[in-house]
Amino acid sequence: MTTRTNASVAGNLSKIIVVGAGPSGLLLSILLAKHGINVELLEATERLDEQPRAAHYASPAVYELRRAGVIDDVIESGFKPTSACWRKANGEIIAGMRFDVVPDDPERMVVLPLDRLGNGDVTQPVLRKVQERH
Ligand SMILES: Cc1cc2nc3c(=O)[nH]c(=O)nc-3n(C[C@H](O)[C@H](O)[C@H](O)COP(=O)(O)OP(=O)(O)OC[C@H]3O[C@@H](n4cnc5c(N)ncnc54)[C@H](O)[C@@H]3O)c2cc1C
Repeated sequence: MTTRTNASVAGNLSKIIVVGAGPSGLLLSILLAKHGINVELLEATERLDEQPRAAHYASPAVYELRRAGVIDDVIESGFKPTSACWRKANGEIIAGMRFDVVPDDPERMVVLPLDRLGNGDVTQPVLRKVQERH
């Protein structure tokens, strides 16, 4: 049985092609680049999806964004909500959460709409900083 460490795997790979610049592809590309692997990220569309989605990063996502070294940039461009709720179409509240009761939790929810991460535009702060680092 052969066990390969991350380092030996990285050593044998000159390039990885990641298909799709959604949250998964973007995060995977950063994590691979952090291991010194040359990454080419292919996206079928001209721009990142501008629909209001993938905006709320819950604790597990915040943990992964921190591991990727981008959480401070995401927080700087976005914000940490003090509360969130789900409403019916008529505005009636169904359920909600308060985050201000755990203000010091490092994995507290962060909000930044997906298209504000970069949009392939290197003048956008988060993508620009990631490109400068890797
Ligand atoms: C209305 C709505 C709101 C949401 N809000 C949140 C939220 O607040 N927080 C949260 O965590 N999640 C949210 N989600 C879920 C979140 O958007 C998805 O879980 C996430 O986008 C999945 O990421 P992904 O990278 O796997 O796929 P996708 O986001 O679908 O990205 C896939 C990418 O691959 C590209 N692609 C596909 N085929 C090819 C190809 N052959 N060649 C090249 N490129 C290709 C697509 O164009 C796309 O850009 C929401 C979803 C919806 C629908």
